[in-house]
Amino acid sequence: MSAMKSCPSPEGQFCQSCGMPMEGAGDEGTDKDGTKNKSYCRFCYSGGLFTEPDITVEEMIEKVVGIMKVMNLMPEEKVREAAGAFIPTLERWRE
Ligand SMILES: [Zn+2]
Repeated sequence: MSAMKSCPSPEGQFCQSCGMPMEGAGDEGTDKDGTKNKSYCRFCYSGGLFTEPDITVEEMIEKVVGIMKVMNLMPEEKVREAAGAFIPTLERWRE
């Protein structure tokens, strides 16, 4: 469990595919039998499948940068920097 200690936030708090914060059951993806999946958000995972099974980590970063750009919360280069550092550490992209 030593790996958990170095991780500042508990797993499941963010979607382990796109990094979106999951604030409630409404944000969670669903498994094949319709139960909520706490690891992935509803945009990434639905009915037991990834909505974009062939997306690469680079493409995911671009996608998140695009979404954040629309939301206009941070300058694009800041978003790109943060997403590029954070997303590859998520469960889906870890080897
Ligand atoms: Zn997601």
